[in-house]
Amino acid sequence: MIVGAGFGGLAAAIELRRHGFTDVTVLERAPGIGGTWHYNDYPGCACDVPSHLYSFSFAQRRHWSRICSPRAEILRYLEEVARDFGIDGLVRYGVEVVSSRWDDESFEWTVSSGDGRSWRADAMIIATGQLHQPSVPRIEGFEEFEGHSFHSARWDHDYDLTGKRVAVIGTGASAVQFVPEIAREAGALYVFQRTGNWFLPRRNRAYPALVRAGIRYVPGVQAFRRRFIYYYAETLTMMIRNPRTVGQVGRLRSALFMRWQLRDAEVRRKAWPRYTFGCKRVLFSSHYLPALQRPNVELVSEPIARFSDRGVLTADGVLRELDCVIWGTGFKATEFMFPMEVVGAGGRSLREEWASGAHAHLGVCVPGFPSLFLMYGPNTNTSGGSIVFYEEAQAAYIRQALSALRSRRAGSISVLPAAEAASDRAVQAGFAGTAWTRCDSWYRDERGRIAANWPGYMTEYAERLRVLDPGEFEFAGLHSNSR
Ligand code: NAP
Repeated sequence: MIVGAGFGGLAAAIELRRHGFTDVTVLERAPGIGGTWHYNDYPGCACDVPSHLYSFSFAQRRHWSRICSPRAEILRYLEEVARDFGIDGLVRYGVEVVSSRWDDESFEWTVSSGDGRSWRADAMIIATGQLHQPSVPRIEGFEEFEGHSFHSARWDHDYDLTGKRVAVIGTGASAVQFVPEIAREAGALYVFQRTGNWFLPRRNRAYPALVRAGIRYVPGVQAFRRRFIYYYAETLTMMIRNPRTVGQVGRLRSALFMRWQLRDAEVRRKAWPRYTFGCKRVLFSSHYLPALQRPNVELVSEPIARFSDRGVLTADGVLRELDCVIWGTGFKATEFMFPMEVVGAGGRSLREEWASGAHAHLGVCVPGFPSLFLMYGPNTNTSGGSIVFYEEAQAAYIRQALSALRSRRAGSISVLPAAEAASDRAVQAGFAGTAWTRCDSWYRDERGRIAANWPGYMTEYAERLRVLDPGEFEFAGLHSNSR
């Protein structure tokens, strides 16, 4: 049983089907495939990781329209892949899983949905990822605000922004994509920034016909591009890992670009980041900083004090009257699959297990949760590379675990606590000296532990997961129904 039909869920389903696991079901909350790409349809929504890398290695395309694909193209790709690999027929749409419970007697998971249905499964793969629950901060007085509001991941396309007084709260990767789009429509646009960001260029024009033809028809060009982008992405990770040395090259590159784009001294002063390059996600946009300098746009760096019925009041006492507030405030990333209830061996809940921070062996397996696997789980996010690459490695690792279970005719497979503790210690130690430790970010949980990111390179992660070590797991129970 797989929960979630985004990149992760599809990767897992395809991997299992290709290796002879025939009884696979995917439960998906949305009415369509795509996960985060289904829900995020804000204006300008696109991936800032080049598509030759942000796609499955086994389903490469030669006809992407541009370096970084818009949402519609990514969704189309996922639909094609699901169809080509026979996964679309396995997905049950409109099913919101609310709980998953392990039965110590029958060696099965019972998965229940909000509408009262339930399923039984020998193994569970939770592929809800890190970026599926919109986060809206509690700001004093918001209940008094009489205007409209919505989150960037639940865009209200019925609300016409033309000529309106609009506030965008938050300036992360989503906001920098939609701000330039809505700046053209809004009467007045106030962008409320809590922390400035480091930027690198991304113009993302459609490929010229010749380049497109070259990628499409010349053998090896597409594969070379994927390889090139892979190492380029690893270079960004190298900068983040080595802030005092190579990181300075990234900082300088970004500073020159930002200085060139930010002609307005006042906007420049406000937008300039005051933390180590790479600590938060480096943003790729050639359109956001110019948009901040439009006459109808104001970058507000003064802290928000509260809302009133008419708008938002900043700490300096200025009230900006608004028709609409758009929350670009990101996701509850370190909550992972919660509020879904996950109960493992002996009735222990995952919430209790993670009371002092989410942790999983290589982001995939949690001790005490037999035959449960996570896709894009704790410490598997990347600031430099492609999450799709990580998910393929996870899918193959999970498949190896299930093959080991099957060949032993056992009832369950669980990671040994000592193995998980050792890999978790190694992951946390991997952050020492890196840029990630030098500021606060959504990579950290409320206790400050970095729970979202992998501290190393894509190559290291794939190598660590390449061959599953059965010695790190325990197998229990004989299962008459083992597949
Ligand atoms: P985000 O990066 O978490 O940004 C949230 C923004 O909201 C930040 O600027 C944050 O400020 C601000 N914020 C949060 N709470 C606030 C509060 N109480 N008051 C004022 N400001 C507040 O969210 P996102 O932009 O949706 O992106 C999330 C992740 O999704 C990205 O990092 C990326 O991994 C992924 N994403 C990827 C793409 C892509 O093209 N590949 C595009 C969009 C999103 P602080 O910085 O001060 O916390």
